[in-house]
Amino acid sequence: MAHGTSPYKIALVGIGKIARDQHVPALQASPDWELAATVSRSGTVEGVEAHRDFDAFLAARPDIEVISLCLPPQPRFAYARKALLARRHVMLEKPPGQTLAEVQALQRLAAKQGVTLYASWHSRMAAGVAAAKSRLIERVVQGVHITWKEDVRKWHPGQDWVFEPGGMGVMDPGINALSILTEILPEPVHLVSAELEFPENRDTPIAARLDFTGNVGAVFDWRQEGPQSWDIEIETNKGAIALRDGGARLEIDGTPAPLPEHPGEYPALYARMAELVAKGESDVDLAPMIHIADAMTLGRRVTVAPFNF
Ligand code: NAP
Repeated sequence: MAHGTSPYKIALVGIGKIARDQHVPALQASPDWELAATVSRSGTVEGVEAHRDFDAFLAARPDIEVISLCLPPQPRFAYARKALLARRHVMLEKPPGQTLAEVQALQRLAAKQGVTLYASWHSRMAAGVAAAKSRLIERVVQGVHITWKEDVRKWHPGQDWVFEPGGMGVMDPGINALSILTEILPEPVHLVSAELEFPENRDTPIAARLDFTGNVGAVFDWRQEGPQSWDIEIETNKGAIALRDGGARLEIDGTPAPLPEHPGEYPALYARMAELVAKGESDVDLAPMIHIADAMTLGRRVTVAPFNF
């Protein structure tokens, strides 16, 4: 069901790190959107109507037809389900849920309700990704090496949910790399082995090595201090292609490739959401999350030193 015309009224739910860093500025700068309300137990945005209770918000503001959920994955399903039952269009932060089956349940519900569900993958919107994808169409990929190493204390300060069941641990950033991989590879690959390092006091991994078919490998590590590494290096029959800085930069045979003007990852996500709502369509691609689920199923577990923030 396509709805109204832009600017669409939107509510942001879960006013935490990513809402403040990215969602609020992207929405406030966009002509497509009017940030009409927030729902958060403690967070607010200056000048925006603030609600604390989601049920009360849904009852009070039926005019706000789009809801963007910036919560951690664990509580997200319950919020998404309520929003869809209330016939609102829903945008999900990545990863779209704790499990594949709960996202599929949301997909079915969105279709039944005739509303849009968008499982967003912000890294797919990075400046170099579309250009890398188009270069790969005319090449044969011979191997891929992903290095995704960052400092969990910098990006998830004090966020214990990342180490709780459903938080995915280092797969939370790692899934960003896999969202790019699954977008740009001409042929799909699948996981063949993995090794997962679990801190002895935590329920999710802090580091991981993943090996896929097609000579594709990934190393994720959340203990990286100093410079951060978000690199995807691709060997092809016509030389090397690399995406660096999480997909923001493209290199062809070691030389930086010029990229078109880019709005930024989150402005691009919200432009896509506006397009989906206008067309009455949904966009839910579970490919990145299938690889993570496979790694959790197939991965050999290694216990490592305890981790505390
Ligand atoms: P966060 O700051 O820890 O949490 C976001 C907000 O969600 C919190 O401020 C909290 O707001 C609400 N919340 C947390 N637990 C809740 C619960 N059990 N029930 C209801 N509300 C709860 O997390 P974040 O870093 O913004 O990450 C949120 C999502 O964005 C994750 O899926 C993450 O992967 C993704 N993301 C994060 C980053 C990053 O750099 N951190 C980057 C890209 C994407 P109230 O307590 O006020 O309700």
